[in-house]
Amino acid sequence: MRRFALCAALALVVSLPAAQAQTVVDAKALGDQTQGRNWLAYGRNFHEQRFSPLTQINTESVKQLGLEWNMPLPRDHSLLGTPLAVDGVLYFSGSWSVTRAVDAKTGKLLWEYAPKSIEHAGERLRVMWDSNRGLAYWKGTLVICTIDGRLIALDAKTGKPRWSTQTTDTSKALYVSGHPKVFRGLVLIGNGGTEFGAARGYVSAYHITSGKLAWRWYVVPGNPADGFEDASMEMAAKTWTGEWWKFGGGGNVWNGITYDPEFNQILLGTGNGSPWNRKVRSPGGGDNLFLCSIVALDADTGKYKWHYQTVPGETWDYNSSMDIVLADLELKGKKTKALLHAPKNGFFYVLDRSNGKLLSAEKFAQVNWATGIDMKTGRPIEREGARYEDGEELIYPGPLGAHSWHAMSYSPKTGLVYIPKQEVPAVFNDKSVKMVDWRSPYFATSMGVDMGLGHDVPKDVTNSSLIGWDPVKQAKVWEVSQPEYWNAGTMVTAGDLVFQGGVTGEFAAYHALTGAKLWSVNVGSGISAPPITYEVDGRQYVSLLVGFGGAGVSMAGGTALSQFGWAYRAQTRQLLTFALGGKTKMPDVGAPVRPKPIAPADFKVDATLATRGQELYLSHCMMCHGAGAVAGGYAPDLRASVLFAQPEAMKAVVRNGAKMPLGMPRFVDLTDGDLDALQHFVRKRAADDAKAAAAAAKK
Ligand code: CA
Repeated sequence: MRRFALCAALALVVSLPAAQAQTVVDAKALGDQTQGRNWLAYGRNFHEQRFSPLTQINTESVKQLGLEWNMPLPRDHSLLGTPLAVDGVLYFSGSWSVTRAVDAKTGKLLWEYAPKSIEHAGERLRVMWDSNRGLAYWKGTLVICTIDGRLIALDAKTGKPRWSTQTTDTSKALYVSGHPKVFRGLVLIGNGGTEFGAARGYVSAYHITSGKLAWRWYVVPGNPADGFEDASMEMAAKTWTGEWWKFGGGGNVWNGITYDPEFNQILLGTGNGSPWNRKVRSPGGGDNLFLCSIVALDADTGKYKWHYQTVPGETWDYNSSMDIVLADLELKGKKTKALLHAPKNGFFYVLDRSNGKLLSAEKFAQVNWATGIDMKTGRPIEREGARYEDGEELIYPGPLGAHSWHAMSYSPKTGLVYIPKQEVPAVFNDKSVKMVDWRSPYFATSMGVDMGLGHDVPKDVTNSSLIGWDPVKQAKVWEVSQPEYWNAGTMVTAGDLVFQGGVTGEFAAYHALTGAKLWSVNVGSGISAPPITYEVDGRQYVSLLVGFGGAGVSMAGGTALSQFGWAYRAQTRQLLTFALGGKTKMPDVGAPVRPKPIAPADFKVDATLATRGQELYLSHCMMCHGAGAVAGGYAPDLRASVLFAQPEAMKAVVRNGAKMPLGMPRFVDLTDGDLDALQHFVRKRAADDAKAAAAAAKK
């Protein structure tokens, strides 16, 4: 019966004229939650719900979902982004912000624009590689960001650049991996970098027609001797101690930015401290505003309105940079304009977005740094020892957070939020950190706290799941357990389906009310991006970028993520588009590859050199090549690299930049002795792992 109804609907649509109405993508269109044809913004529209009203693909018809077309992306690597769908055209930014327009019905490439990010990236290649999470669209103009901090406006029809603006000081260790946000003729962008240098976070709004700066707001105060930019910085400075400005302070807004049309305000999810350890950054204590907060700014002027700080005096990398979702909730019989937020720290927050007042907060994951949130003060109740005052402390969550940038979604129909949750603890310890003379790094990794990142992350010690969460009751309604962690963001539809991809390469649809898995497909490679849905000529499509990557994969990857075989350049990246009745064969993207460590019998590891090499590895190599020299798939596994095992070839690549065109940075500051020490560390790791593998094979 239902199939008949569907066929009838399709026949009706096909008889309509092919030309579609041209959508004027302005504040009205971006505020419209009822249209489902287009996916106009990162979170679909201003509300950031990632909820689509489309119902053609639903809990019954989903079993007929099949691949309609695929677009191989052989030059891409990390694909983290949310494509946009506007009037039958898909726009997406891939690795290095290479941007493409594609016919949404057929997958035919319409144009491609490469901002030459590798050439512009400079020292940034050392710390934050090809990641880019998306783009923005406003009245025929696309806006993209690049790792080196450029904001570039493109003609959506041709892909030709209209203007380009440098949003950061390129001498600072700042980068941009996030998506720009458009509203009322302005485009807003933040930046990242708290781990890699003396970073002071800020956001900037530019006029979309000219690229001229409209306003800028700093997240943390600078040196009081230089004067404060505005009253909010003066207020914030009272919550800092010592000489924090020397370290930048941090607070970088690298992901969560929401425009709230009902209050004409920008809601920012602010970053963690730079460095992470408050004892270094602000030795006399203090809340350190506006770190780890939701801050509301007037959208026209950038003036501070209100804030709510999720982690006062943060010291664990618990940034609040996760997405901020607008929702109208009925709370205690009262209609409330709320915002929903599930930051790294493991608590789910519901705030009144008219004034920033905390309405409720509960744990949605394993948390042991705080026992709860005091509703009188709005502050977390920290447990003793959580600030690793007395040495090693095992803390949940670790710096990867209970939820990171992988988007959550909210269905106003079911009233549930769909969160990719993860439970990855870390052992915090700062006994070896020089508190007095601590120096910020410069395009290297240093956080003022030791977390054993020199070691491999073994598999099966972490936990993750997809959860359906009731934000009114602040309770879990269902939970689907998932392997390891770093599973991708979610989307929910009025067809009561939650779509999500994950680290195993499975792309699945779950019943939005129960979590029952109704459909799934193996795409042959790990998934890091969230899906979107749209409609062309009466047919609903679901699109997904497939390209395992992102900083978490590399930094904390280890065996936990390398076990799946998504090794560097082993699988061809894809844009996949599904529809009911889709009959295209799933592309053969390449088999899983598990790099084999090279352990030459004649290489004698010098323990002292290996220890020194480990320190160099942590600050220089780990961000891309993985914890414990086990690559998660973001960059080659050095234990298995023939090139790395040859001193001359290693010198040519690591110090002289022979592979810079592929994105491998140059480290002119590393001496022959440093390279030798790195070799000893990697060979030690390779030998240890080869020995362990041989022992395991004997069992
Ligand atoms: Ca951080």
